[in-house]
Amino acid sequence: MAKTDIAIACRCGEFSAVLKDASPKTGSHVQCYCKDCQAGAHALGVGDTLLPRGGTDIFQTTPSGVEITKGADHLAAMRLSPRGLIRWYASCCDTPVFNTLGSTKLSFVGLFVNTMQGDAVQKAVGKVVAVNSAESAEPGPPIKNYGFNKAGFNVLARHFAAVLRGDAKKGPFFDAEGAPVVTPRVLSKEERKAATS
Ligand SMILES: [Zn+2]
Ligand SMILES: [Zn+2]
Repeated sequence: MAKTDIAIACRCGEFSAVLKDASPKTGSHVQCYCKDCQAGAHALGVGDTLLPRGGTDIFQTTPSGVEITKGADHLAAMRLSPRGLIRWYASCCDTPVFNTLGSTKLSFVGLFVNTMQGDAVQKAVGKVVAVNSAESAEPGPPIKNYGFNKAGFNVLARHFAAVLRGDAKKGPFFDAEGAPVVTPRVLSKEERKAATS
């Protein structure tokens, strides 16, 4: 089977990356309406990158397939709280690009589908297999949550497969000591509150 590499770009084009071998077998396409994901976008002043109703469209996979191809010095990171997800963005235009955990203990990255380029994206990410926190969606007709356990299981399965392959800790986000390559800025309580309201 042919492998599909997907180009990733921030909105202004100064930062780009590639996700290698993207397919519904190597990752899960999920949508999250949780308040933290919405706050992540609002804290960067880019609420317009959210889906209608405040959703975030994410392709969950392992970080070894991610390579930064341009503008690595624009890679920046923030956290809503000291232990929250690391929300990586391109500082040239504040486009959210990746989410990771705070360490390499779990081989995980969530890529923002709206930064993925080209006609092959929909086929590469596949259908939405999970919707999370729909109760936090902006007002409108009900959105149904589904697939949360399956998506969590897939994250663990991909982690263990990456451990077996020996590339669980690879990728552009953490150094050899397991520290983030950019120290994430942690929002103050006031900033967090402003982004959440
Ligand atoms: Zn940019
Ligand atoms: Zn979320």
